[in-house]
Amino acid sequence: MMKGSQQNWITRDKAVNWHPYTQMKTAHPIPIVRGDGIYLFDADGRRYLDMVSSWWVTLHGHAHPYIAAKVAEQLTTLEQVIFAGFTHPGAVELAERLLALLPENQHKVFYSDNGSTAVEVGLKMCVQYAHNTGKRKTKILALENGYHGDTFGAMSVSGRGKWTAPFCDMLFDVLFVDAPASENIEATKLLIERHKEELACFIYEPLVQGAGGMLMHEAKYLKELMEYCRDRGVLLIQDEVFVGFGRTGRLFAADHIGATPDIMCFSKGLTGGTMPLGITTCSDFIYNAFYNDDKQKALFHGHSFTASPLACAAALASLDLLLSPSTQQNIQQIVNQHHAFARYVDGHPKLQQVRQCGTILVLEWKTGHGSSYFSEISEFLYPFFLDRGILVRPLGNVLYLVPPFCISGEQLNYVYDQILEALDNS
Ligand SMILES: *Cc1c(COP(=O)(O)O)cnc(C)c1O
Repeated sequence: MMKGSQQNWITRDKAVNWHPYTQMKTAHPIPIVRGDGIYLFDADGRRYLDMVSSWWVTLHGHAHPYIAAKVAEQLTTLEQVIFAGFTHPGAVELAERLLALLPENQHKVFYSDNGSTAVEVGLKMCVQYAHNTGKRKTKILALENGYHGDTFGAMSVSGRGKWTAPFCDMLFDVLFVDAPASENIEATKLLIERHKEELACFIYEPLVQGAGGMLMHEAKYLKELMEYCRDRGVLLIQDEVFVGFGRTGRLFAADHIGATPDIMCFSKGLTGGTMPLGITTCSDFIYNAFYNDDKQKALFHGHSFTASPLACAAALASLDLLLSPSTQQNIQQIVNQHHAFARYVDGHPKLQQVRQCGTILVLEWKTGHGSSYFSEISEFLYPFFLDRGILVRPLGNVLYLVPPFCISGEQLNYVYDQILEALDNS
């Protein structure tokens, strides 16, 4: 790369682009011109270890040649076809292969474009399910500190805060409860019992609440809540957009819980992080409530790029890699290394808590003024790690590692060493 082009891209970017979740006045986006495995490279040739999997999407590393070859092949075979009135092999094969990996009660796949749309589809399925079966249920149960996306429906069911404040009058009615734990489960059940007639569904991030601060809850209390809802006709939407495809150490969070949802949402790792694609799966009994001679009972939802053949090809290629013994071995290696490091730093005087779920490792710094997105600790940690060639994106005082599964033991140890230095210096 030509020296000096880094500044050129920065200037041109600033002139025309508006970045997500970014106060542009203080922003300094880094131009990245190439990716290879665990690394991203800037225009000056500096490399960054991608410890956030580029916003939790990358599974097998950047610019993976196998996925690239499969997508290239698809590009010159069939790049796009309308998915209403038509279908294509990639959409069929991906649905077949994904359903075979999910809990047995998941029978149908509905394609969309991203995590937020996968959630919108799930919510609409539940509300129209009630409508189609002659009931009126429009209230939704969700968890405090949850995150399900940035479109209006997804925002409505996400925890309310600074992000949603400008829109709060426009978000629909949601009943929020704390993430399930021994001390609140009975109170939550009482609330559900009281509202069961109007509750269309319960939507939740299983085991790990990602954007809300990488908060974790125990599978056994979630299971209890799921079963309680099921017994009262409240449908269950399990949002595996973040945790799906190996992040928890198993393929899906569902594999840890021992209770099955009615609807599941996927995106992020679905294509190995190469292309946007969303999937909402559901049980037959939901699908059957729309399956009718009456055209009015159809699910009226779709996007221009529904079931993009390119994204399906990427997802199929990613599944090949994910299910390979070497990737499964790498995942276990990450889980074990995280576990050992978590035990090593647990109890450090600067840390409030250390927690882990599979390949997700979380270190929560102690702060004087509580957890906040704008807290100073993140403003210290972000540049500290960047200077050491590591990309992290702390949520307030919460530093988390969500590495692509191709990371080596050595690379992970390098990151741990820098964390120990950050603890010494913070
Ligand atoms: C990121 C995320 C979403 C939204 O996905 P987008 O593709 O960013 O719209 C939904 N649910 C969860 C749990 C997420 O982490």
